[in-house]
Amino acid sequence: MRRKLAAGNWKMNGTSAALSELEALADAHTTASVDVLICPPAPLLHRAAEIVKKSAVTVGGQDCHAATSGAHTGDASGEMLKDAGATSVILGHSERRTDHNETDVVVCSKAEAAIAAGLTAIVCLGESLQQRETGVTLEIIGTQLAESVPNDATGDTLVIAYEPIWAIGTGKVPTLEQIGEVHTFLRTQLVARFGGETGSAIRLLYGGSVKPGNAAEIFAVENVDGALVGGASLKVADFSPIIAAL
Ligand code: PGA
Repeated sequence: MRRKLAAGNWKMNGTSAALSELEALADAHTTASVDVLICPPAPLLHRAAEIVKKSAVTVGGQDCHAATSGAHTGDASGEMLKDAGATSVILGHSERRTDHNETDVVVCSKAEAAIAAGLTAIVCLGESLQQRETGVTLEIIGTQLAESVPNDATGDTLVIAYEPIWAIGTGKVPTLEQIGEVHTFLRTQLVARFGGETGSAIRLLYGGSVKPGNAAEIFAVENVDGALVGGASLKVADFSPIIAAL
């Protein structure tokens, strides 16, 4: 049985004041039957880790560098995130692929570094609207999966997040059939590559406009093991019902 995961991606939102939301989330989840993760902006990570310490909530990063240290101004390594209290790191989010030209190869090397640092790598992939409309979704997803996921991944060290780019922050969500088709495809590919045991243990999240109102139906889709949530993870009032729907 794969343990369910509700992961919140705060993106570039939140200063110290936002930590009150994390406090409320931690207070509401001193124990949890599912995994609950919040990935705040890097400057908040250390304090966020302190806040969630006595709760079932964990915290993570939104990116890391492929190297452990060195002359890389503005970057942080997996080791640094781990040291700040992170359990996980989101990698290859479409916003990073677009804003920072991250390729599958770059994402893969970051994932290797994150895993080596003792973090769980949450590798994101997903098609654009144009790719969806021209019928190449599975082809795109297959290539991203093959090239951005390292060979040494396990069910403990890797999570895949399927995030159609056109569904992120737009309020548009694929049909349940479309989500199911991609998640079943991902599962088949993972089992083919890693074998039945590991391929079945890697969790598959759906991300893109997950809200309290649509979470339950998305979570009922086969091979959806949770969600990567952007906007609706910023407020406990929105995120808690999503966690409860898992
Ligand atoms: P959204 O973002 O929930 O605001 O659509 C999801 C994501 O980008 O991870």
